[in-house]
Amino acid sequence: MTIRFKRVLLKVSGEALMGGQGFGIDVAVADRIAGDIHEAKALGVEISVVVGGGNIFRGVAVASKGGDRVTGDHMGMLATVINALALRTSLTKIGIDAVVLSAIPMPEICESFSQLVALKHAEAGRVVIFAGGTGNPFFTTDSAAALRAAEMGATALFKGTQVDGIYSADPKLVPDATRFDRLTHDEVLNKGLAVMDVTAVALARENHIPIVVFSIHEKGEFSRILSGGGRSTIVSD
Ligand code: UDP
Repeated sequence: MTIRFKRVLLKVSGEALMGGQGFGIDVAVADRIAGDIHEAKALGVEISVVVGGGNIFRGVAVASKGGDRVTGDHMGMLATVINALALRTSLTKIGIDAVVLSAIPMPEICESFSQLVALKHAEAGRVVIFAGGTGNPFFTTDSAAALRAAEMGATALFKGTQVDGIYSADPKLVPDATRFDRLTHDEVLNKGLAVMDVTAVALARENHIPIVVFSIHEKGEFSRILSGGGRSTIVSD
């Protein structure tokens, strides 16, 4: 079997970890995603993960109510640390060695991010979970995913979403929206396709990193796509 990508960065949004709940972490879902990571790792793929925080907090929620955006973003970044610890717990339960590296140092809780440390953990076969986004307000964890993918030398950025790829419109709202198999980074930007923010797509484009958009809710889909099957939209040069 030919494996399409040997070193990948997986973006797991907070919404994905929430499962069917309206808020927080559904441990069963976190366990399932950990299982999918385990399966993909068994193919010999090196995997690192960026987790979002939207299931707990988004900075704009503070800003939209007249509060300070920067403080809101700090709260959002802290939320990603909670999710990262949950995912590490799910991975550890099934015997996967995983480490959380935070862009905002909190040494009593997890290790701090540096590229060198991240690469060493990856070389040792650990799943590296990046928390704290980029460590800066006014960014998103999608941008953090593109940034960490570049820093790790990832050959693909897998973006787990609610649906199985990029559509011409939101398929949940527009039933006859069409799904794309392949797009270029420029097409995603020019068509204004809302799959990742502009900063994230531009960073991936600049570093020639393909973005694979797939359904995070489809059990086993991550490894099916890595092995050449499954359903996804591939965004590449
Ligand atoms: N955030 C930030 N800088 C970053 C990444 C995230 O300030 O580099 C904050 C921002 O407030 C964001 C929140 O953390 O709303 C949660 O991240 P995001 O919305 O990207 O999570 P997701 O939508 O993937 O769950």
